[in-house]
Amino acid sequence: MIEVHELTKRYGETLAVDRLSFQVPQGVVTGFLGPNGAGKSTTMRMMLDLDRPTSGRVSIDGKAYHQLSEPLKYIGALLEAKAVHPGRTAYNHLLWLAQSNRIPRRRVDEMLDLVGLREVARRRSGGFSLGMGQRLGIAAALLGDPRILMFDEPVNGLDPEGILWIRNLMKSLAEEGRTVFVSSHLMSEMAVTADHLVVIGQGRLLANLSMNDFIDQNSHSFVQLRTPQPEALLDALAGAGMTATPKDDGAFEVVDGDPARIGDLARDHGIALHELSPQRASLEEAFLRMTADSVEYRTHGEDVHRTMPPAANGWGADWQRAQDRNRQKIKTKKES
Ligand code: ADP
Repeated sequence: MIEVHELTKRYGETLAVDRLSFQVPQGVVTGFLGPNGAGKSTTMRMMLDLDRPTSGRVSIDGKAYHQLSEPLKYIGALLEAKAVHPGRTAYNHLLWLAQSNRIPRRRVDEMLDLVGLREVARRRSGGFSLGMGQRLGIAAALLGDPRILMFDEPVNGLDPEGILWIRNLMKSLAEEGRTVFVSSHLMSEMAVTADHLVVIGQGRLLANLSMNDFIDQNSHSFVQLRTPQPEALLDALAGAGMTATPKDDGAFEVVDGDPARIGDLARDHGIALHELSPQRASLEEAFLRMTADSVEYRTHGEDVHRTMPPAANGWGADWQRAQDRNRQKIKTKKES
C-alpha cells in the first residue's frame, strides 16, 4: 500500500504539487490522470525519493522509500524510458541492477524473455527503439519481483502492438495482487486499463474514485436524431414527454431516450428519420471538463488559463497539439 500525505512540491514560483493526499490500493491498476504539467511525474519522483518534497510525506508499507533496504524488491518503476547507459547492453544493464540489489542472475534471463528482448540482449541499448527501451525499462522494474509497480506514461510513443502489450501486462500484474500505479494524460487510455482513478490538476487532487463510478457519473447515454422535419419531430417527442436538445450540426439529442420508442413514434407521425443512433458521452470529454480550469500555460512568466476546449469536431486533435506544445515547453524549462 502506498500512502501519499499532504505532499507538496514547490519549484521557485511554481507550485507543482499542492497538498496532495491519496492511497494506492493493492491488486488493481490505479490510473494517475491529469493534463500535462499537472504534477504527475513530480509526484512519482517524490514517491521514489528522487525528489525531495517541500512538505508532506509518502509511505510504502509504512516506510519511507530510503528506509527500504533493497528497494527494487519492494517497488519497481518505469519513469523515463531510456534512462540507461547507451553503451551498455540490455543484459549488462539488468545484470548490474540485479547484482546491486542481490537479485539472482537467472531473473535477468527470465525478465528478458518476459519483455521479448532475449534476441537483442547483447546489443547496446543506445541503438534501441523507443518501444525496445520501454521494454527494457519494464524488465528493470520487474527484476526484483516487487509488490508495487509504478509506470509514468508508459504507452507514450509506442505502436499499437506495444500499447496492447503494456496494457495487458499491467492488468496481469494487478491480478497477481500487486499494486500498479500508472500515469497518463489520456482518459481514453485509462478507461481501458485502470480500475481506480486518481485525477489531479495543477498539483491538486480533483477526484479519487473507481473507474466504474467515474463512468456512472460522467457517461450518460443519449439518442442522436436527424430529420428533414425537425419541427414535426420536436412536437411528436414533446407530446410523448421527451425532450430533444438541438446540436450545432443540425442533429438532436434525447438524453436516456429509447431508440425503438422514438423510431415507432416517428413512423406513427409519418416523420422521416435520417439518423437514429444510440450514443454515449465520451469519458475524455468528462475528464477535460473536470480538469479544464487547471490546464495552464506558463510562457516566460505569463500565465494563460485555458477554458474547456471546443466540443465541436476536431477538439481532441487541437487540444492534444496544444498539450504537446505545453509539454515541450516544460521539458525545455526542465533542461535549462
Ligand atoms: P506532469 O508529469 O503531470 O506532466 P510535471 O510533474 O512534469 O507534470 O510538472 C508539474 C509542474 O512542475 C510543471 O509546471 C513543471 O513546469 C514544473 N516542474 C517539474 N519539474 C521541474 C523542475 N525540475 N524545475 C522546475 N519546474 C519543474
